[in-house]
Amino acid sequence: MQRRSFLKFAAFSTIAPSVIMAAGDHDNFVLDSKASASLNSKVKKMLEEIKSTNSYYTQSKGATFFEHFKDAQHPRATLIGCSDSRFQSDALDATAEDDVFTIRNIGNQYIVNEGSVEYGVHHLHTPLLIVMGHTRCGAIKAAMSDYSGETSSIRREVDHLSLPVRKYAGLTPDTQRWLAAVIENVNFQVKECMLRFNEEVKSGKLTIVGMVYDLANDMQKGYGKIVPVNLNGETSEQKLKYLSVLKPFFEA
Ligand SMILES: [Zn+2]
Repeated sequence: MQRRSFLKFAAFSTIAPSVIMAAGDHDNFVLDSKASASLNSKVKKMLEEIKSTNSYYTQSKGATFFEHFKDAQHPRATLIGCSDSRFQSDALDATAEDDVFTIRNIGNQYIVNEGSVEYGVHHLHTPLLIVMGHTRCGAIKAAMSDYSGETSSIRREVDHLSLPVRKYAGLTPDTQRWLAAVIENVNFQVKECMLRFNEEVKSGKLTIVGMVYDLANDMQKGYGKIVPVNLNGETSEQKLKYLSVLKPFFEA
C-alpha cells in the first residue's frame, strides 16, 4: 500500500459525495448505517489507506522535497491522459511531482479541457505536450457504440470522440478495431493540439507526442509498455522508430 493506493482513490470519487452529503444531513451519521454498510465499509477502508499512505509519503519525502517547489511549479511536460484508473503517472515518471502538468478526462481529449492544456503550454512553458491514450479505453469503446442512453454530460464528452472513431462506429469493437480506434483518437487529439499550438511547434518551443499506454499487451510489445504513435503529426512507425528521441521506445 504505497502511493498507488492513494491514486486509485480517483476510482472511488463518484461514490464519496453521497457519503459526504449524508454526513451533512445527519449530524450523528455513522459509516455503519444499515442502508449502505457495504459501500461505506469500502469508503472507510479507502480513507484509512489514504491516511496511512499519506503518512508514509510525507515521512519518506521529508520537508526538503516540498521546499523545492512550494512557491512555484516547474513541469517539463503537459500531459493529456485518460481518467481511467488503470493508467497512472507511475508508468512514465517515478517522481511526477513538479514534473508533469496533468490533465485527465475520459478519452484523453484536448477540447474538453483546452484551457488547462493552454495553461501548461503557455503559462508553464512545458517544452513537451504528451497525448497519452491507452488500450482497452472504455470511452473509445463507448464512442464506437450506441451511447444515446447516457446522461447529457457523458454524451457531450463522448460526442467529441465520435469524430476520430467514426469509421469504426457500429462495427464489433474487437481488440484490433478497438486498438485502431484508440490510436486514431490519439492522432486526432495531436492534430487538434497542432492546430492550436502551431506556432510553438514551428518555432521549436514545443514538441507534441502522441503515445499509447498498453495495459493489455494488445500492441505485442509487453504489458504496460508506452508506445509512441505520433510526433508533431508524423505517424509513420518506420519514421518514428528511427528518430533519436523515440528510438529507445522501439528497442527491447
Ligand atoms: Zn480511457
